[in-house]
Amino acid sequence: MKLYNTLTKKKEEFVPLTEGQVKMYVCGPTVYNFIHIGNARPMIVFDTARRYMEYKGYQVNFVSNFTDVDDKIIAKANEEGVTAEEISTRYIAECKKDMEGMNVKPATTHPLATQEIGGMIAMIQTLIDKDYAYNVDGTVYFRTRKFKEYGKLSHKNLDDLRSGGRSLLVTGEESKEDPLDFVLWKPKKEGEPFWKSPWGEGRPGWHIECSEMAKKYLGEEIDIHAGGEDLIFPHHENEIAQSECCNGKPFARYWLHNAFLNIDNRKMSKSLGNFFTVREISEKYDLQVLRFFMLNAHYRSPLNFSAEIMESAKNSLERILTAADRLKELADKAEGTGLNGREKELLEQIKEYRNKFEAAMDDDLNTADAIAAVFELVKFANTECGEENSKEYLQTVREEIVSLCDILGLKAERREEVLDEEIEALIEKRQEARKARNFKLADEIRDQLLAQGIILEDTREGVKWKRA
Ligand code: AMP
Ligand code: ZN
Repeated sequence: MKLYNTLTKKKEEFVPLTEGQVKMYVCGPTVYNFIHIGNARPMIVFDTARRYMEYKGYQVNFVSNFTDVDDKIIAKANEEGVTAEEISTRYIAECKKDMEGMNVKPATTHPLATQEIGGMIAMIQTLIDKDYAYNVDGTVYFRTRKFKEYGKLSHKNLDDLRSGGRSLLVTGEESKEDPLDFVLWKPKKEGEPFWKSPWGEGRPGWHIECSEMAKKYLGEEIDIHAGGEDLIFPHHENEIAQSECCNGKPFARYWLHNAFLNIDNRKMSKSLGNFFTVREISEKYDLQVLRFFMLNAHYRSPLNFSAEIMESAKNSLERILTAADRLKELADKAEGTGLNGREKELLEQIKEYRNKFEAAMDDDLNTADAIAAVFELVKFANTECGEENSKEYLQTVREEIVSLCDILGLKAERREEVLDEEIEALIEKRQEARKARNFKLADEIRDQLLAQGIILEDTREGVKWKRA
């Protein structure tokens, strides 16, 4: 299996540190709001990478953090007059719901930055002891120039950075020895969460969080480190500097980065107001459509989001689901059992689609070509399967579609339709819960219905519902 490594700018054969095992770290979101569909891209593509590696027999230790202490979280907490912890706890729970909807598997471990401060302090201390870091009045900086390999991931040259890097000279950080030095620990400010440290009360810089969490849950050397391409510099470059100087070992062997998601061919940004949260999309579509839409592009290509493209993704996915449905109906009705000669021959032929699928995925996770192989199989199913076929044959073709989709995290088996009466009964139960002021239960029922594709609307005339 080949992966494009940002470090070497080449597609390389993937060879894990330990045979049969993969240690993988993916930078997770900063939790101060609902995640947007840009944040969903790394979640979906690297979950697919994980699923494919598991399919190939690797045992994958997959770690993805939540950044739960950050300026944006603090700002949001102040805005609402609640604690930062309340904000992060709320949006971690919401993020997990979205992940479930997109069929993104929970990580082996989802560490929280605020729970790992002790380890970060220990790493910073080691860097100070090794002379790679220094303390100025409670702010600890990393001595960037001392790490000779700085720039190796982003392929940047230190002197270019210096001349072009005025923005790196952040105000209030004039005490740095060199403009390139970055913060490992910052002193507390009024009204902010803080922890005790040998350099005074304060909180860690963002980059050291990931270095520590990767080390604690995966070890000093890991196989894959991934995230969006905006993280290459400075975040991942700084992680490499911290980890390699502290541990004295190469950090990650393969660095994978997804390209950005744009909206209507413009950069998606909060300030332009042209972004969608995953939750908004879930009100209109099954989130599996969002997943399918993302996987139709190669993860290293920029991807454009628009209403039309989503509609067309929905229709394409529908073709797969319909083919699987039709095979189920045919198989349920089929009388003949046992494969005949012709069927055996055809089942031999369909192996070609799996081979194509694997060849595409082995080529730096080319999910677009893998999906094309699924469509070839769907076309085969629509032309080579009918009432005259045996149950066994029809089931095998169907299982093949379901199984290839499953590797991509797509469910080709349609959800059992929920009956109107069941929905009405749940709405009734929710109304009772609300009357009893049991809002937790009421919300759970709403979420349960949403997961089944039922949207509730509270109107003056009472609760109305519709199918997504
Ligand atoms: P953040 O919460 O900003 O730290 O981002 C979490 C993850 O989402 C990171 O891996 C980012 O690179 C990624 N990300 C943010 N915006 C986009 C976007 N528009 N397209 C693709 N990935 C993104
Ligand atoms: Zn990170």
